Amino acid sequence: MTQHLDTDIAILGGGIAGLWLFRRLSELGYSTLLLESSTLGGEQTIKSQGIIHGGTKYALSGNLTKASECIASMPQRWRDCMEGNGEIDLTQAQLLSPHHYMWSSSGIGSKLTTFFASKALRGRVDALDKSQYPEFFQHPKFRGNIYKLNEFVLDIGSVITALTEGLLQRTIKIDWQHSQLETDEQGQITAITTGGGEDACMIRARRYVFAAGAGTADLISRWGIDGPEMQLRPLHMCMVKVPNAAPLFAHCIGTSTVPRLTITSHPTADGQWIWYIGGEPAETGVNRTPDEQIAVCQQELKALMPWVDLSSAQWATLRANRAEPKQNSLLRPDAAFCKSINNCFITWPTKLALAPNLSDEVIKHLNQQEIKPQFPQPERSPLLQGAEICQPFWSDAFS
Ligand SMILES: Cc1cc2nc3c(=O)[nH]c(=O)nc-3n(C[C@H](O)[C@H](O)[C@H](O)COP(=O)(O)OP(=O)(O)OC[C@H]3O[C@@H](n4cnc5c(N)ncnc54)[C@H](O)[C@@H]3O)c2cc1C
Repeated sequence: MTQHLDTDIAILGGGIAGLWLFRRLSELGYSTLLLESSTLGGEQTIKSQGIIHGGTKYALSGNLTKASECIASMPQRWRDCMEGNGEIDLTQAQLLSPHHYMWSSSGIGSKLTTFFASKALRGRVDALDKSQYPEFFQHPKFRGNIYKLNEFVLDIGSVITALTEGLLQRTIKIDWQHSQLETDEQGQITAITTGGGEDACMIRARRYVFAAGAGTADLISRWGIDGPEMQLRPLHMCMVKVPNAAPLFAHCIGTSTVPRLTITSHPTADGQWIWYIGGEPAETGVNRTPDEQIAVCQQELKALMPWVDLSSAQWATLRANRAEPKQNSLLRPDAAFCKSINNCFITWPTKLALAPNLSDEVIKHLNQQEIKPQFPQPERSPLLQGAEICQPFWSDAFS
């Protein structure tokens, strides 16, 4: 017997985009189902550095670009949710650092100093006195200036847990080898059918949302429409576990418009911190082997923080793709992307921080299309498997 599940909205993909929307639409009274092919949050979302950007790093060229303007309001949106005053409840999510910092190894040049002090960046970038430096930079051998950014860093595992609290029974683990997108002659999606035997299920929604990150291109091709194209921008991240290291959350700025290093810190089960290194080496090191990539990052840390003893540090690397709508010449997209085609929305947030902006876009389209909450919340049969929350990416890296 095929189980039929009727819902207002079916979301395909449980990264930050799908999960934020799942929570927000559920709270607005829409009946929602979330279909995930692997684990919740387990792709780009958990591999991200967890920085809730306000766009300051995009201003490194000394100009406020469209990208930095669009993202500027996101930290406050997240902060409101963390404090229990926002559109969704993230009071259980954990803050890793209340600020992200920016430091320069050798003066940042007068143009940038003037820019950082300008009205345009007021409230977004504050120069600190030495007494206000975070613990890591209090070392007497540290040389340079530190700026405090109006951005913060979250423990993404705890964000995923908070977003799915009470909603896991409406997630379905979907195996596309045994599932189909059913369509009609007008190009509308009519259903998603999964399974074959006693677990056969037909999911019918009034609107479908593709929020599958790098998997969205495959969904578009299964649907067979002429949808937006996707681009992948690869990164080769580096992880280092330095015994008894202090946590560090900062961009190091050099001469390029990409930070020379972006370091965030993530707690391990044994009470230590892993420094997770992105920025320029992650962008330029895509063709390096892991050993070559580690050697480059070792050199950078030795040059920039010579007082840190790296002799018993453990190293690892992680490759990840950022999935986004295709732009000319791999330029960075500047806002969350949402395109409405027939009864589906094709989305990419383009940044973790832009998940609230993406949900605004979807809700705007739902209102324009007069899709109001209608169906009761669907109940998954016990024969269907729910999706599970991912593990932190670093949990196996040093075992
Ligand atoms: C190394 C790295 C660091 C980053 N750091 C930051 C940062 O500090 N701050 C920031 O704002 N942004 C950051 N980003 C960008 C950010 O992580 C992404 O923009 C964001 O996580 C994308 O979320 P998503 O939900 O679109 O995709 P994903 O997190 O990739 O989620 C997509 C989900 O869909 C599932 N899926 C795939 N195919 C299917 C299918 N056919 N059916 C059902 N489910 C499917 C996947 O299993 C996955 O769970 C970083 C990205 C990377 C790679």
